[in-house]
Amino acid sequence: MTDDNRRCGFVAVIGAPNVGKSTLINRMVGTKVTIVSPKAQTTRTRVLGIVIAGASQVVLVDTPGIFRPRRRLDRAMVAAAWDGAGDADQICLLVDAAKGVGPQTQTIIDRLAASDRQVLLVLNKVDLVRKPALLSLAASLTDVSSQSASVFADVFMISAETGDGVSDLTTQLAASMPAGPWLYPEDEVSDLPNRLLAAEITREKLYLNLQQELPYATTVETENWTEKEDGSVRIDQVIYVERPGQKAIVLGKGGSTIKKIGAAARHELESLLERRVHVFLFVKVRQDWGDDPDRYRAIGLDFDA
Ligand code: GDP
Ligand code: MG
Repeated sequence: MTDDNRRCGFVAVIGAPNVGKSTLINRMVGTKVTIVSPKAQTTRTRVLGIVIAGASQVVLVDTPGIFRPRRRLDRAMVAAAWDGAGDADQICLLVDAAKGVGPQTQTIIDRLAASDRQVLLVLNKVDLVRKPALLSLAASLTDVSSQSASVFADVFMISAETGDGVSDLTTQLAASMPAGPWLYPEDEVSDLPNRLLAAEITREKLYLNLQQELPYATTVETENWTEKEDGSVRIDQVIYVERPGQKAIVLGKGGSTIKKIGAAARHELESLLERRVHVFLFVKVRQDWGDDPDRYRAIGLDFDA
């Protein structure tokens, strides 16, 4: 394949919480890159998944759920989601075919209609609905007399869970990317999701262990990913918190909490990557970040789970 044929672009995957955005991205990329959760709104950061299909490199952006913002932080998340969608070359609006268009999805459709932006309508979870109900949902959304019809350039019916219809969607997305060189080198394609995957998994374990105490205050970044000669991988991560008190919570008594989090993350990573994994977690209060790279290692907990 010559470089002349290449295409590359961004696809924003938007939709109400729980419609299956993360599941779809994982399905397309073929490995777990974002958290799939039965609980709403655990997806906080925009996670990239990269799909190579023919001559195209398709960069998927998993936006936080676009919903009616109430709290200030929610509003910031929604703004970030719309920014991601606005920059994208293509937008997929996911709808849960079993639930239909609720108020949250309607808000998104209204906003798209107002911005003259056309998107691909993706009816997900077709494994849960009978065909007549599915077809009438599709018909009602694309009926020329409805306001939403102008928003949808095309309709796909898929199951992110079973993979049904996903390759058609991938093919269409790949073909619609603008011509241009790939943004990510081929050999980085697996490494970038792995770093993000590792960060997401640790964040998931944080949530599981600290649900009440640390709602949105924490982020996790994978700083280093080192392949060892013995076939294992060393993963260095920083857990950023907002206040010293939160750091104490993450560490737990005598480091017991972070030990549990690290062990759980290592366990899941080992089964996903199918090899031995060493996780080194550091906890850092965000506001001090950038002063001295060595300092937080000194005050953080250096810990091989
Ligand atoms: P997100 O909030 O939009 O990212 O949704 P998730 O990807 O986290 O999925 C929410 C829930 O829906 C999870 O329990 C998924 O397993 C489930 N789910 C996603 N896609 C499908 C599908 O095609 N069929 C079925 N039956 N369940 C699905
Ligand atoms: Mg998600």
